[in-house]
Amino acid sequence: MAKFVLIGSGLAGGLLAAYLGRRGYEVDLFERRADPREGNIVAGRSINLAISTRGIHALKAVGIADEALRHAIPMRGRMIHDKSGALHFAPYDVDPKKCINSIGRAALNTTVIEAAQRYPNVRVHFNHKCTGVDIDSALAHLETANFAITAQGDAVIGVDGAFSAVRKSMQSDIAKFQYDESYLAHGYKELTIPPAPDGSWRMEKNALHIWPRKSFMMIALPNPDGSFTCTLFWEFEGLRSFATTKANDEVRRFFEEEFPDAVPLMPGLLDDFRNNPTGSLVTIRCAPWFYRDKVCLVGDAAHAVVPFYGQGMNAAFEDCVVLDECLEELPENRERAFAEYFRRRKENADALADLAIGNFIEMRDKTASRTFRAKKKLDHALEAALPGTYLPLYTMVTFTRMPYAKAAKRARMQDALVYSSVFLIAAIMVGAILWLLVT
Ligand SMILES: Cc1cc2nc3c(=O)[nH]c(=O)nc-3n(C[C@H](O)[C@H](O)[C@H](O)COP(=O)(O)OP(=O)(O)OC[C@H]3O[C@@H](n4cnc5c(N)ncnc54)[C@H](O)[C@@H]3O)c2cc1C
Repeated sequence: MAKFVLIGSGLAGGLLAAYLGRRGYEVDLFERRADPREGNIVAGRSINLAISTRGIHALKAVGIADEALRHAIPMRGRMIHDKSGALHFAPYDVDPKKCINSIGRAALNTTVIEAAQRYPNVRVHFNHKCTGVDIDSALAHLETANFAITAQGDAVIGVDGAFSAVRKSMQSDIAKFQYDESYLAHGYKELTIPPAPDGSWRMEKNALHIWPRKSFMMIALPNPDGSFTCTLFWEFEGLRSFATTKANDEVRRFFEEEFPDAVPLMPGLLDDFRNNPTGSLVTIRCAPWFYRDKVCLVGDAAHAVVPFYGQGMNAAFEDCVVLDECLEELPENRERAFAEYFRRRKENADALADLAIGNFIEMRDKTASRTFRAKKKLDHALEAALPGTYLPLYTMVTFTRMPYAKAAKRARMQDALVYSSVFLIAAIMVGAILWLLVT
């Protein structure tokens, strides 16, 4: 059986190792950080994430969905907090059973790594940083605190995230390798709402909370221990921004003006704000995602997206499913399997990147408006009236496994039909009124 060297045991790396292990491949998985079971989860990355249909399907296929979702918290809709503290709940779907799930990154990472380690043909090596790959020979260069080693595979797979070392080697060694990275003007900072003294949640537990404030926003996802992890998405620079709001009284004033109902729930606000890092938000597009039968990219290494559709990890997990299918369909020709995987995923990753940026505008700006809430109600009414025929975009992306590009295209067609029907009905009504007036 072929041997795969995987670089990165983040969310997709652990899951992919389990898929490859299940197929009987030899797998050596190298991770630059320490074992997450030792509590060394990356500071500054989101503590919890939303997992939905695509991600759950990928976990089910290797039999770990129940284990992973044991402590997940279902979120049935968005709880919008306006500036006066008033709350509006907008369900995600007409079917109340359809929900997204808040899940801890560390626990999920451990679950996928342990799933991989159940296969005797999978070996995981922590504290090994990849410094580059000889792409013609599938040889990975690694260093530990004390020594440098190489790992020879039949293929190397870069599952090493948005700033992938494997992708960098492809960039420097493949002529005409396409690469594009773009950063939002916004960064993010994580803050905490601790549990109430009795261990319960201080806000509605089964919702994703949003404080939309037009050009910026804060969100909060529940954790199993009764706390919420809040994420403030805010401009790096500008009159009021991370750059200009540093002193304690400036931070407090900003929060009291913008998120007055959240401030009393955040006793550690000033410490969190000062001590937690400010992360950046990047979209990465590249092509190709493979080199001969020697190198392949999966997850954020191939297509990092901004987090506003809650789909980055879900899409990375879906990559693992598709790569596994391609290896099954083309067992004797790994290069064609990699090429087919790239063909099936690239346009969908590009579509998701666009959807994710579009959803930032929707979350921070439109969710606060009456028109938006009316459009959501219309969406749900049409979905209920035309089951299986009309599917809101959010439903297609989050609650189905329809390819992202197809979902985006279908939503554009549906919108065109709905808007032209509304226009036609309005025109007929105006015509009828005019006719009544003149006759
Ligand atoms: C604020 C925020 C919120 C998010 N929320 C959601 C959400 O709600 N839902 C969702 O689906 N997605 C979400 N995402 C996206 C999600 O985090 C990523 O898409 C997902 O982590 C990608 O998984 P990955 O395994 O490809 O990369 P990563 O999780 O980044 O893992 C890469 C791994 O490779 C290791 N590594 C890196 N370089 C090297 C090297 N040189 N040598 C060895 N190892 C290396 C890293 O240490 C890491 O363990 C969010 C992202 C952010 C930033």
